[in-house]
Amino acid sequence: MKQFDVIVIGGGLLGCFAARNLCRWKLHIALIEAREDVCTGISRANTAVIYPGYDHRPGSLKAKLTLRANARFGTLCEELDVPFSRCGSLMLSFGEKADEVLKKKYENGRMMGVPGLRLLSGREARELEPGLAPGVRSALYAPTAGTVNPWELGIAAAENAAANGAELFLNTRVLAIRQIADGYRIETDQEVFACRVVINCAGLQAERVQEFLLPSPVHIVPDGADYLILDKAAEHKPTHIVQYEPEDGGKGLTAVPTVEGSLLLGPSERENEIPFAVSEKGLAFVRERTESVLPDLDLGEVIRSFAAVRPNPQKGDGRSIVSFVIENPGPGFWSLIGIKTPGMTCADELGFYIAEKAAACLGAEGNEAFCPIRKGIRKARNMSPEQRGAAVRENPDYGEIICCCEDVTRAEVLEAIRRGAATLDGIKRRTGAGMGRCQGSRCQQKLLALLAQELGIPEDAVTKDGAGSELLGGGRHED
Ligand SMILES: Cc1cc2nc3c(=O)[nH]c(=O)nc-3n(C[C@H](O)[C@H](O)[C@H](O)COP(=O)(O)OP(=O)(O)OC[C@H]3O[C@@H](n4cnc5c(N)ncnc54)[C@H](O)[C@@H]3O)c2cc1C
Repeated sequence: MKQFDVIVIGGGLLGCFAARNLCRWKLHIALIEAREDVCTGISRANTAVIYPGYDHRPGSLKAKLTLRANARFGTLCEELDVPFSRCGSLMLSFGEKADEVLKKKYENGRMMGVPGLRLLSGREARELEPGLAPGVRSALYAPTAGTVNPWELGIAAAENAAANGAELFLNTRVLAIRQIADGYRIETDQEVFACRVVINCAGLQAERVQEFLLPSPVHIVPDGADYLILDKAAEHKPTHIVQYEPEDGGKGLTAVPTVEGSLLLGPSERENEIPFAVSEKGLAFVRERTESVLPDLDLGEVIRSFAAVRPNPQKGDGRSIVSFVIENPGPGFWSLIGIKTPGMTCADELGFYIAEKAAACLGAEGNEAFCPIRKGIRKARNMSPEQRGAAVRENPDYGEIICCCEDVTRAEVLEAIRRGAATLDGIKRRTGAGMGRCQGSRCQQKLLALLAQELGIPEDAVTKDGAGSELLGGGRHED
């Protein structure tokens, strides 16, 4: 039986950041993940926004953590060597009712101390973002909003946790949990673990994992969401995050100029529908909303669509829960159940919040040796010609391009595999190979060969995304 002080179940954004923050104390930590890689569940597909925090109830945990997280996000991304763009956001109104909603959000944000908020006229908004539809009446400008790539963030947190001593168990699914005299016994499909503290970050399965111990008062209903991605070369892309507050109070649109240079459009909302795949209806909705808000965009430049899955936490009576839900079903057992937006923005803060509770419960001492710094894979596309020349002299694999759309070299792919990529998606998420205009049609065969060679397996045993997509283990389903 493997013995730890703390076991974190689930290697999504929340689990990876819980593990990272637990390392700030002298603790023996394990992170257990059912899939072959971290961040393959909810955390894999989201809107990629780092929220400014004007939307939440003042004084709530969500409001406090979002404000703190937003202020610290630049520092966090420097520590973890993850690209972050503080591009600001514009929330648009096209009618009187939405004007009122924006005013309320503005007042709420000011009361909470969200920095730099401004209410703009339609003309001022179009000066900032010339591609906006002429009907814009007003806009709420939030300069502190930003964007980050969710999986780069999660992978970086997991690597930093591992470098600080947390042990990562992949392909290990928790099957049962039992309270024992001095903590918990956790049975998995690999081996048995014991620990004094459990942190349940199992995403869509957090309710099920908690029910290994006690019935959960919170139920997770998975909903679907669809997105489109426009190629980096597309013209008239906005430079700010553009959000649309519809006059009828329904679902709006978010357009995000991503850190990779593409434009993310979405999400649609599909209630109570099994989110196995993108829906034509959802994609049509995203297109229609985009045309009404950003009419100059050429939607012929779409290079990809994908579906995400939302955990919709509900009370027994079916009402949705807006606040962050942290259950404490047993001594030293915490469940982060159905953490929705802005869960990515707050992942590090939530991780610290829960790690502090775990450390207090165990009477753990601070770990002065904790190092928050992690270095990412050196990307050839970010190098100057001189740096690139030096990189090739040092390692000739930097001279061989594998993915020409995203300018990814053999050196980066090999480094991704060394760091744990075991599937085509694992490489894509670490290097960007296959994310460009041709969507991997030119590099996939080379990636397969490299994976097979490095992992010592036949090429036909290499998979796109490991165990395959499964609803309750999370997953992103692309067309
Ligand atoms: C559509 C959408 C858009 C969003 N947009 C934003 C945004 O723009 N900004 C923002 O701040 N937030 C956003 N969020 C919220 C954010 O993405 C989530 O809060 C965050 O990703 C939740 O991650 P998680 O770790 O809880 O879950 P997951 O990423 O799903 O991780 C849970 C992990 O647990 C593992 N697991 C499950 N069961 C077991 C088991 N029995 N044993 C071992 N492992 C197990 C799973 O395999 C999975 O990897 C969005 C969310 C959605 C759905």
